Amino acid sequence: MAESFGIHWFRRDLRVAGNPALKWNWKQNQGRTLGVFFFDSKFLARPDFSHHRFGFFLNTLKALQTELRELGGDLLVLDSGPEQGFDYLLSLLKTRPPTHVTFNRDYEPFARERDSKIYRKLDQLGISVHTERDHLLIEPQELKKDDSKPQGFYQVYTPFSKKWFSLLSQDEFQNRITTQKESLSYLNKRKNGNKIEPIFKLTWSDLIKKEERIDQLDSYIQKTSTQVTIPLPEAGSLAAYQALTLFKSKVDHYLEKRDYPNDPGTSHLSIYLKNGSITPAMVLYSLDLKNEKWGDKTGRNQFLKEIVWREFYYHILYHQPNVEHEAFLSQFRNLKWENREDWFEAWKQGKTGYPIVDAGMRQLNTTGWMHNRVRMIVASFLCKDLLISWQWGENYFMKQLLDGDLAPNNGGWQWAASTGCDPQPYFRIFNPTLQSEKFDPKGEYIKKFLPELKNISPDWLHAPWTRPEGNPYISPIVDHQQQKVKALDLYKQRNT
Ligand SMILES: Cc1cc2nc3c(=O)[nH]c(=O)nc-3n(C[C@H](O)[C@H](O)[C@H](O)COP(=O)(O)OP(=O)(O)OC[C@H]3O[C@@H](n4cnc5c(N)ncnc54)[C@H](O)[C@@H]3O)c2cc1C
Repeated sequence: MAESFGIHWFRRDLRVAGNPALKWNWKQNQGRTLGVFFFDSKFLARPDFSHHRFGFFLNTLKALQTELRELGGDLLVLDSGPEQGFDYLLSLLKTRPPTHVTFNRDYEPFARERDSKIYRKLDQLGISVHTERDHLLIEPQELKKDDSKPQGFYQVYTPFSKKWFSLLSQDEFQNRITTQKESLSYLNKRKNGNKIEPIFKLTWSDLIKKEERIDQLDSYIQKTSTQVTIPLPEAGSLAAYQALTLFKSKVDHYLEKRDYPNDPGTSHLSIYLKNGSITPAMVLYSLDLKNEKWGDKTGRNQFLKEIVWREFYYHILYHQPNVEHEAFLSQFRNLKWENREDWFEAWKQGKTGYPIVDAGMRQLNTTGWMHNRVRMIVASFLCKDLLISWQWGENYFMKQLLDGDLAPNNGGWQWAASTGCDPQPYFRIFNPTLQSEKFDPKGEYIKKFLPELKNISPDWLHAPWTRPEGNPYISPIVDHQQQKVKALDLYKQRNT
């Protein structure tokens, strides 16, 4: 009789190192575990679909497939959603079905619904399903308020983060970090080009009847390559590990450097965290953050707080999934945004006449990434200077960002628009010129993305329309002071 085997369904955990559900499967089946990835047509048809992010995602899958094959295993990429995909896959097998299917849990509303359907389906087929935590260090259902009121989840970041740090010190959560030692040493060996012995004992061709090629990854990569018009960073867990290693020497300076967009003082890990090329547990181990205490004022502590912001926004999306479609705060759900298409177009193209805003949007359009400080500035400008709905901005960011991720993107937009949980108060309106003077004092960031201003003195760069010899740049499409008054009126008309 053929030996049993397991299938690991990859989704946002695109790596081998420290992948808990994959490891569980591998142990249960003594290395006879195969990987599968399904392209869900619903995902590919989303209005905020991004060719660039998809291109990066495909490269991540390719790196994973190559790694699994080097380790004696395999990854099959199928051109259908998981429901039809599993049926198809099972119909191709020349052996009996797998004993186990494993996957790591996802917290987005669409994914949770999909996963419970698949769980039931596989269960009915007699295939046991095992899931694990992976994408977050602490899952939303693990971090509850101490009182047992019906609205028992944290809606404000500070108490959430206090609780998060207090859980961090407990053995169970410490273990999640210390167990990463092995996975990081595996990545280090790969980085140094050391030989790694195969650990998997099965490939798809051992089990599938037909000879025809059913793996769709290369064909997707080929089709998508023509749509990708920006340079993509290196993808995969090894690239993530390299970014993490590079950041080790910077983390102590994070507090003073993180707000200056011209200085690469941040980790650039968001694109890798999004796909699960790396996880918060690995980051905490590698940067030795597991003993951090709430409230310390150091670079390492501030960095950890940012990781906690990510977990906070996932927590909010999990407990209040309607934020995907509407404001978290009900009083701000019917704001009368002006939504002028021509202003939105100018904002998207980086042609508003405000250099810091335009530099940010051009960084986004040409690299697929934008510095966090500038994300806050351009988001505030869209909502509170141009009076355009945060949802338009959220959607445009998702179309452009390589790290575009529903929970932190929605959280960031609702924070800037003052409609979210624990947001910026609506009457705090960023002045783009002052922000520019403070965070890009020499105008180096501006000049990098607006080369047409490269000969302009920093004295005029932040507000070139004030230059005595005349404005060398596009005339501002709005006057900040006037728009501020209008924005305050707009927010005052909220539901009470
Ligand atoms: C309007 C707006 C939209 C955003 N959209 C996204 C998005 O789609 N995807 C995304 O990952 N982040 C988003 N952010 C958060 C933040 O801007 C990015 O995570 C950060 O710029 C990524 O760069 P980094 O990895 O160098 O960050 P670092 O400063 O090195 O931070 C480390 C990690 O902490 C997390 N993090 C940092 N800042 C935040 C934050 N404010 N909120 C939540 N998590 C944070 C990220 O996972 C990041 O990789 C958004 C912020 C705003 C204001």
